[in-house]
Amino acid sequence: MPWIDGRNRALHGGFAQIFDCKPVVHELFPPATGQIPDTDLNHISDFIVRNFYSIPRIELEQRCLGAGMPGVHASTVFRAAYKSLLDDPWTASNLPVAMRPAVGLDLETILPEPARVLVSRYDRSVKFLFRLEDGSMIESVLMPERRRVTLCVSSQVGCRQACTFCHTGRMGLLRNLDAGEVVGQVVAANRWIAANPGWLEDLNLPSFQRITNIVFMGMGEPLDNVDSVAGAITIMTDPLGLGLALRRISVSTAGHLEGMAKLLAIHPDVRLAISLHSPFEAERSKIMPINRKWPLGDVLRALREAPTQNQHGVLIQYTMIDGVNDSLRHAEELVRVTNGLNVKVNLIPLNEIDPSRFRGPAAAAVESFRDHLHGAGIRVMVRYSKGQDIAAACGQLVTETAWATAR
Ligand code: SAH
Repeated sequence: MPWIDGRNRALHGGFAQIFDCKPVVHELFPPATGQIPDTDLNHISDFIVRNFYSIPRIELEQRCLGAGMPGVHASTVFRAAYKSLLDDPWTASNLPVAMRPAVGLDLETILPEPARVLVSRYDRSVKFLFRLEDGSMIESVLMPERRRVTLCVSSQVGCRQACTFCHTGRMGLLRNLDAGEVVGQVVAANRWIAANPGWLEDLNLPSFQRITNIVFMGMGEPLDNVDSVAGAITIMTDPLGLGLALRRISVSTAGHLEGMAKLLAIHPDVRLAISLHSPFEAERSKIMPINRKWPLGDVLRALREAPTQNQHGVLIQYTMIDGVNDSLRHAEELVRVTNGLNVKVNLIPLNEIDPSRFRGPAAAAVESFRDHLHGAGIRVMVRYSKGQDIAAACGQLVTETAWATAR
């Protein structure tokens, strides 16, 4: 198995170590005080260290203005951090040296550390196993496809939705990621791309190519952690930051109705993907317990009523499981329940994690399911998991590592 050691970068800037104050994850956008922090060492532990990558540009601007500095400096720091990918964005040229002490003394640039990086021999997808500040492990997968480079990000350590066929679902929820930890996956992956020009060359991509698309399809249920996810999207779509188009960000959900409403209120044009997996309510509840709280019918109704979603189209993810949801009866009902909704369907043959319980579908079943949807006028694609040789599907590497440590 071809794997490359992750670069061992120092996670901390000097501040937490010098002042011995623990970085603490807390509310996303607290109001800027505009005060210059007191640099007297006796008082330093009075303020809480925050991750630079969880701060939107507008907050940096407010901090600048509060400190009597031009707001445009915030744009320079943002560009340095997200476009030039500097380790220390405060050292960008044309910034006053006094800027960090004045507006960012409580901010540290904390990125997830690539503990392992695996590059697929088959499709060049790259799987990162990232270690977070508290030692938690998450994964992200980089998927090149023609001119597009998509990063699949995690939103939680584990997941509490307990879908029966999903590896991450079996871990339970350990904790939510904060916005900086979500954004950090993109920055860390972009840095890996910059440090590995051979990867772009192999793909015939230009040396300046960076991540163009994001899918929230890694570990976790993103809408169970909607504040961090919405905050991360604000930062990712900042034109002076990562500069991603909102329509190139897909948030995949098992059907979290409450989170969906909240996300759409903040980012109405974000792309939603619904993990549907069975069009029959009772059957769906068996494999996806979330359906007992928010039945599929209610989720689909909410999507029909969300003007932006029906206009742009909603992605339906359908993991096919042998003998569970892969019959023509399921295909017919899927056509019926999605009637009137602008959908595109991705059929994903199950990646077997426990073959004694669930098996992947027969090739013939996938074909007839696909043909039925196609015949009904639905756009449909069969998607095989990326990076089969590096276990790039849901939760696999993290779980393998957990087993290795447990033994
Ligand atoms: N919680 C979110 C996003 C994470 S998973 C959601 O449910 O949408 C991304 C997709 O992979 C989901 O559609 C999920 O159901 C699917 N998936 C999970 N385990 C799988 C497996 N073993 N094989 C194929 N797809 C799987």
